[in-house]
Amino acid sequence: MTAKTPDWLSQGWEHIWLPYTQMKTADLPLPVVRSEGVRLFLDDGRSLIDGISSWWTACHGYNHPHIRACVRAQLEKLPHVMFGGLAHEPVLRLAKRLSDLLPGNLSRAFFCESGSVSVEIAMKMAIQYWLNQGLSGRSTFVSFKGGYHGDTLGTMSVCDPEEGMHSLFAEVLMPQLIIDLPADKEDLADFERLLTQRRNEIAGVLLEPLVQGAGGMRFHSPEMLHDIATIVHRSGHLLILDEIMTGFGRTGSLFACLQAEVVPDIITLSKALTGGTLPLAVAVAGTHIFDGFLFDDPAKALMHGPTYMANALGCAAANASLDLFETENPLDKAKAMQDKLSELLAPCKGIAGVRDVRAKGAIGVVEVDTLKDVQWLKTRFIENGVWVRPFGNIVYLLPPLVISDTDLEYLGNSVCAVMAQWERL
Ligand code: PMP
Repeated sequence: MTAKTPDWLSQGWEHIWLPYTQMKTADLPLPVVRSEGVRLFLDDGRSLIDGISSWWTACHGYNHPHIRACVRAQLEKLPHVMFGGLAHEPVLRLAKRLSDLLPGNLSRAFFCESGSVSVEIAMKMAIQYWLNQGLSGRSTFVSFKGGYHGDTLGTMSVCDPEEGMHSLFAEVLMPQLIIDLPADKEDLADFERLLTQRRNEIAGVLLEPLVQGAGGMRFHSPEMLHDIATIVHRSGHLLILDEIMTGFGRTGSLFACLQAEVVPDIITLSKALTGGTLPLAVAVAGTHIFDGFLFDDPAKALMHGPTYMANALGCAAANASLDLFETENPLDKAKAMQDKLSELLAPCKGIAGVRDVRAKGAIGVVEVDTLKDVQWLKTRFIENGVWVRPFGNIVYLLPPLVISDTDLEYLGNSVCAVMAQWERL
């Protein structure tokens, strides 16, 4: 602990448990005291350009005045009220707006507080949809290697069993069908055969469209997404698209599924939903799924209801964030960022140990054979004034969509400079 460590950090450190961290050897986290635009300000006066948008949330940058004003106004009126039997304007407005923005008949929004829980809800919707039609046994999900859908027990079961950080829990996880993401026509034929043969066991197919994020920022084409969706629907199954990471402009369109003209039966959204300000997530179902719960029997209702669902502050933030998609054109910036990121990261291609350099929308990736000395890398990035967190075998940039060209260049050049030093380790 240095003399500069603020009291709140030194006093609280003995009482906190950090995510994905071996606490025995953990370094002190960096004390952040303020954020603004694309920058995080540290207690000791340093600032960092955030290259990963706070776990992929802060699409408009930090402290956007419009989001701040809307949340503040809502705080004065009604921060929260239970959503059973009571309603408030921000959530009803948000549900209507999402329904207008989403493709096809995706029009019934069920809110909760985290991405993982929205995926749990989508999975429950799919299982109960079939049960409500009198079809029992359809409780297994098909998902894909390289996929990541959350850290709760249900969602862990549909993550990549090796890379999803969850192999330790294998014995308690529900068995699912986790297959390679189809890469060609032959794979697609195998996929269709599986869906047909196991028809009566399968509740749904779950996929992160266009980019599998936490599994290593792996891309697939809109054509492949379209073919997968066609097969899922042709064989009579439900498609759940997890757009928790890809939603709200990250791949260059408001939702990734729009690029493939695919309409899932259920979509999950979170992360950038509130512009990175408050925890909120949603599973939005198509009308046919919703209609599958309409009976005189109360037991056929969707049996879920988180205490803080539809939190009014979160919904006010989400409405404000959607306003900004209308007024500030971040989608144009996200589209333009693909070429800029490709160009900026191109020098990494010549570095020994670098396997691939790629960009999709506002995501830039440097994939290496093995990510040796990850702690060294993290430290060098901080010394360079950027917040970049390599994981798995990738170093990646996923900056706020509104980042200026100058700051983006600084980020890209920092990655190339640090990777060039890393090569010589
Ligand atoms: N799905 C995807 C695609 C994600 O990227 C994440 C979070 N990284 C989740 C689900 C889980 O979201 P949360 O961390 O909010 O539970």
